Amino acid sequence: MRTYPQKPRNRFNTVIEPEIVDRVKQMVLCARNIVITCHVSPDGDALGSSTALCAVLGALGKDACIVTADCPPKTLMFLPGVRDIVSSTRNPERAHELISNADLVFCLDFNDLKRVDRLGEAFEKAQAWRIVIDHHTAPLIECEVLISHPEVSSTSALLYIFLWQAGWARYLNRSSAACIYTGMMTDTGNFAYNSNDPDLYLIIHDLLRKGIDKDNLYKLVHNNATQSGIRLNGYAQFRTEYLSNGRVALIMLNQDNLRDFGYSKGDTEGLVNIPLTIPDVQWSIYMREDSDDLVKISMRSKGEFPVNMVCEKEFGGGGHINASGGEFHGPLIEALSVILEVIPKYENLLV
Ligand code: 5GP
Ligand code: MN
Repeated sequence: MRTYPQKPRNRFNTVIEPEIVDRVKQMVLCARNIVITCHVSPDGDALGSSTALCAVLGALGKDACIVTADCPPKTLMFLPGVRDIVSSTRNPERAHELISNADLVFCLDFNDLKRVDRLGEAFEKAQAWRIVIDHHTAPLIECEVLISHPEVSSTSALLYIFLWQAGWARYLNRSSAACIYTGMMTDTGNFAYNSNDPDLYLIIHDLLRKGIDKDNLYKLVHNNATQSGIRLNGYAQFRTEYLSNGRVALIMLNQDNLRDFGYSKGDTEGLVNIPLTIPDVQWSIYMREDSDDLVKISMRSKGEFPVNMVCEKEFGGGGHINASGGEFHGPLIEALSVILEVIPKYENLLV
């Protein structure tokens, strides 16, 4: 008699425990109202993974929707399904109603309920099971199921691995495959970093087979600059300060600069990465004064320099070792004096 292997062979290096995959499948199949959420200021990975999962759940015949704290950026409005997102800035009553009626909540691409901002309390109160799928370190969300793989470069790639293991990748179509690809592409800087894992290319192979146009997705995400945005970025680069013997870059834009150049959300996406193209620069800091008492901070680094630790300890934020963010409550001028004290504290970690 022929014998069959007990377990299906793993295709990817990253493996989610089969018991966990089964558990999620059971929870999905039993759920009536599913809500998917991701972090505030959602990026390509947060929105890509959320829209892809929502589409797959829809294809399974489930009632699922995406609820977020704030609106998606204009540059990602092309993602199929993004226009159906219920954001609490636009539609607070509906957002709260959906959360309180949910019996299953998926938390994608974040590790702490603080990251859903004004919706944190509603999610905490909701009588729903919670499933976390994320790639940030040290997850803090209380949940029934945790799929946390910081070694995977994007939540979208991790979601694909889950769907494949669940036998649900077949429910992806060209549109939802494009959502997954967009998340994978944006969280790896177009496969320029965190992208040596062969799994990624197996996934891309599958997504291409679903009919995605990866070259066009790159254009949709990146080729949408405006004259004023380019001028603002040029101005910010011209005024960047290089400190600590050229190893640290500090970019600052105050409210006047933003107003003068007609800033709109997303215009300076990618700006913080530019100083790292100088070989000596290992730590790049961008501080943007959004209001009199809020400075949004973004940091990027190379190698072992842990910007997530700096953002967590100094600016109540977090993220990944080489890409993190946080906030400073006060005007930019005060944030500047703080950062000038913070930089020397971590200088010993620079090489
Ligand atoms: P960005 O600099 O592009 O805004 O954010 C880079 C990464 O840092 C994000 O993917 C996210 O993981 C993290 N991040 C950004 N801002 C915050 C924040 O305010 N709090 C926390 N915990 N993480 C943040
Ligand atoms: Mn991500």
